[in-house]
This record gives sequence, C-alpha cells and structure tokens, in this order.
Amino acid sequence: MPTSGYSKARAAECVQTRERSQKPFIFIWKGPGYVPRSDQLNSAAARFVQVFRVPMSKRTSIPKRQKAAHHEAGHAVLSAAINDAPYLVSIRRDGTKLGRACYRFEARPQRLIQVHLAGFAAEELLSGRRSRRLRGPELGISITMATTPSLAHLQPMVEGRDQFLAVQEILKMGVEPRSEIIRTEFDRFYEIAKASVQSVWPAVAAVARALLKESELASNAFFTALGGHDIYGPVLAVQDTYGLRART
Ligand SMILES: [Zn+2]
Repeated sequence: MPTSGYSKARAAECVQTRERSQKPFIFIWKGPGYVPRSDQLNSAAARFVQVFRVPMSKRTSIPKRQKAAHHEAGHAVLSAAINDAPYLVSIRRDGTKLGRACYRFEARPQRLIQVHLAGFAAEELLSGRRSRRLRGPELGISITMATTPSLAHLQPMVEGRDQFLAVQEILKMGVEPRSEIIRTEFDRFYEIAKASVQSVWPAVAAVARALLKESELASNAFFTALGGHDIYGPVLAVQDTYGLRART
C-alpha cells in the first residue's frame, strides 16, 4: 500500500511530471465514469483528490507497444469467448493510455473478473513474468477503494483500472469484503483467466499481430484477425476444469 496521498497542487505537478517522464502514477479520479485523455489531464488535475506514486517496474526487452497489443488481445479474445465480443480493440495512443478494449459488461461477475484480468494474463504469457501490478500498490488501492464506502464515488484511472474493476466484480459475488479474502479470490481468478488465455494463445497472438499492424480493430476486423481459431471450445473446457460453468 502506498502511504501518502498528495495535495491538489502536488497532484497537478505530478500530472505534468508524468507527461514529461512517463512515470507511472495512480490518479484517483473524482468524476464521471470515463478515463480522461492527457489533454484533459492538466485542467482536470484540480479534481484529483489523491495521487499515489508507484515505483517504476523493471524494464523488459519486450517493447511497450507489443505488450499493449497482447494485453488488449487478451481482454478481447477472452471477452469474445465468455462475455461479449468487443466492438473496438485499440492500441492507438490515447494520451495517457496505450490500448483499450471496449466491450459490454453484462455477464456474471465470475466471467467479468476474468475478462478484466485477461490483459495481465496475456502479458505474463508473453513475457514469462507476472506483472508486479497484480499484487503491488495498485491492487491494495483498488481493494481499499472498493471496500471503503466513503470512497465509493471515486475510481482509479490508467494504472490500476483493470484491478479495480476485477475487485468490484469479486465483491459482487458476495464475498466478505476483507483484503485477504479479496486477494485470494483475485489470485484464483487470475489463474483461471491465465489458463483460459493460454488455451487460445494462437488466437490471442493473431489478434495482437493484427493490432500491431492496424493499431485498431473494429468488431469485423477482430473476427477476421481471429482467422479460423476456435476460441470457444478451449476456453469452455478450462472454465469447466475450474468448476465454472461457462454457459448458463
Ligand atoms: Zn487492461
């Protein structure tokens, strides 16, 4: 858990520093449910209530764009298999954020948790290393925010968002809102998401390749990129293995 929150003035300064250095920060955003673009960040800084500094992760040899492509392909393919096909998958730089997958959120929490964690799962399968962001400050903040009623109107943006959304879905399953319990569920679903993504890795890799080429895939282009790969059978088999009936 990070220790210090920053004042609004310091937050504004951090926003500018971030833009120069690209160092990761978690901004806790008080506002409507969208992620502001970088050109909105400076004016929005006054509305940041707290900013947490996150240590830089070790550099890997995998280029950022390639990682982002696999991350978004992971979200997109798993969503298509157990939730809903994405209507847009993109790694176009959108200010603060490299990549996003847009899909509707209607499925059961057990599926949505996995969809939110599939990006990190794909990154791990690509790099062989589990993201530090799955246990570090981002997860701690997400849990604190999701379980503290006075913080319920806030949401983290940029780094920490996937974790926060996953934690929110875990709470919807009716688990006791205690940190250790949430972390246990988080790890359990991460493993299932990873096994699911692994089972359809050729499809994930194919979508990532298409993203690296085109930067953005609308629904039709996404299905074209999948080629002939079956994304349903293997994922459903994994869901069954873990006792999650994928079709209800
Ligand atoms: Zn993501």
